[in-house]
Amino acid sequence: PVDQPPPHPSKKTLVVLGTGWGSVSLLKKLDTENYNVIVVSPRNYFLFTPLLPSCTVGTIEHRSIMEPIRNFLRHKKAAVKYYEAEATKIDYEKRVVYVNDESPIKGDVSQTEIPFDMLVVGVGAENATFGIPGVREHALFLKEVGDAQAIRNRIMDCCETATFKDQSEEERKRLLHMVVVGGGPTGVEFAGELQDFFHSDLKKWIPEIQEKFHVTLVEALPNVLPMFSKQLIDYTEKTFKEETIDIRTKTMVKNVTDKYIEAESTGPDGKKQLERIPFGLLVWATGNALRPLVKDLINQIPAQKDSRRGLAVNEYLVVKGTENVWAVGDCAVANYAPTAQVAAQEGAFLARMFNQMAKSQDIEAKLTELSEVQEKAPNAEARNRAFDEIKDLQKRLRRMKGVNPFEYSHQGSLAYIGSEKAVADISWFSGNIASGGTITYFFWRSAYLSMCFSTRNRILVLMDWVKAKVFGRDVSRV
Ligand code: FAD
Ligand code: NAD
Repeated sequence: PVDQPPPHPSKKTLVVLGTGWGSVSLLKKLDTENYNVIVVSPRNYFLFTPLLPSCTVGTIEHRSIMEPIRNFLRHKKAAVKYYEAEATKIDYEKRVVYVNDESPIKGDVSQTEIPFDMLVVGVGAENATFGIPGVREHALFLKEVGDAQAIRNRIMDCCETATFKDQSEEERKRLLHMVVVGGGPTGVEFAGELQDFFHSDLKKWIPEIQEKFHVTLVEALPNVLPMFSKQLIDYTEKTFKEETIDIRTKTMVKNVTDKYIEAESTGPDGKKQLERIPFGLLVWATGNALRPLVKDLINQIPAQKDSRRGLAVNEYLVVKGTENVWAVGDCAVANYAPTAQVAAQEGAFLARMFNQMAKSQDIEAKLTELSEVQEKAPNAEARNRAFDEIKDLQKRLRRMKGVNPFEYSHQGSLAYIGSEKAVADISWFSGNIASGGTITYFFWRSAYLSMCFSTRNRILVLMDWVKAKVFGRDVSRV
């Protein structure tokens, strides 16, 4: 088989799974000259997830928040191999990853194996459904670009079908009922974006739907956005009320059919009641679950027998029970929330550590060389010179080996809540600043703009915002 360029025999093979927040942040800072780096991911782009909810209604076009992985890898100092494939199994004992090409076009070979010396697992997580019947069949998720496109199409389809000739009032009401399950930041941001779309564009384009279009957010806990401070939770709930988004807290969805959900709500008297809530669009945003690949790896490692939410890692992000496997992001459990902020810091930490490990390996090799020189030195002067050099290198090596463990630095939480308002809990020195409103919204916009992957992304997002403001969002269904 033709494979260019060949791996360097003296370098270790570092295999990185995934092209999300954790893996890409590692690759960004990794000195690729030190390893034979191989990246495996079915997604050939990095996705800036914080702006994904805006793609569901066309405030932002999805390509504006995607960065092709090839475009980014080609700028690395040493070549990195990328395989567009899904890792189907990691064999820890054999130190091999099995990969499948799951894309529509397949060659003669579409399954193969990749041996590794070092492995970084950054495959993220799946959507949690808790085994609730009907979710996978009838709900839409909001994790990937395809999900955002499907939601955008479904919103428009519901609106157009609701205005179909001779549609009954009851059916119109159902079709125009947009239900979001999960009051975490994904559900809240989507509900806010959807209501914005309705207010600024939909009701102008299709005035007939004005009376019946309605957004409901269903949450099992007593309030939405549990990771935010009480003041911001109250602010969000008040804003939603003003925007006429219904929040149904203490309501747990138990069953999903093609036209309604069945939910158990707990009243103020503690009484439980089961009700049917009809919907046209159902978006399911109830958090993360383990990917099968990760579950399988957990089962191979005895030290992971109690891992339920992801691969348990130590303070250097090494998967417990292994020596040469690291995990970052949503598939790792290191006592932090599964956020982009955590994944990005973990990836950057690993890059620093791997860069240092390579340097110290170089020094160790030089030390071996020098001790041979010292042994074979023809006279005392040469022996002393080698001895001094060894001392210097040993000092450098000690400094390098003293890598501090990973420590997450929380910058704060931000969420858009619709009608040009956002909420922010920002860490400030040792304190915290909580703010909500329109100024926070401009802060939210500038923060996310500055965090975009590339200048290209930044310009595209900015242009999308201007376009949506001037011409309105695009309501064509594709
Ligand atoms: P991901 O970014 O999900 O990347 C996983 C990668 O692995 C992908 O490239 C995927 O294709 C690949 N992959 C999957 N399976 C395999 C396989 N078998 N083999 C190889 N590769 C595989 N966090 C914040 O901090 N702030 C926010 O504002 C924010 N907003 C969000 C909005 C939305 C709509 C969503 C869904 C999430 C948001 N998050 C936010 C959370 C954040 O996106 C995740 O925590 C983050 O993406 C986790 O990074 P990761 O690298 O672990 O996984
Ligand atoms: P989440 O885990 O934060 O919230 C899911 C919510 O769904 C929970 O509040 C849970 O009580 C509720 N739920 C679960 N089952 C339910 C049921 N059957 N019926 C009704 N409600 C149910 O999930 P998310 O919002 O998808 O976020 C996932 C991760 O991504 C989190 O760590 C989050 O912080 C991060 N994220 C951050 C941002 C941001 O910072 N702006 C945006 C999106 C996601």
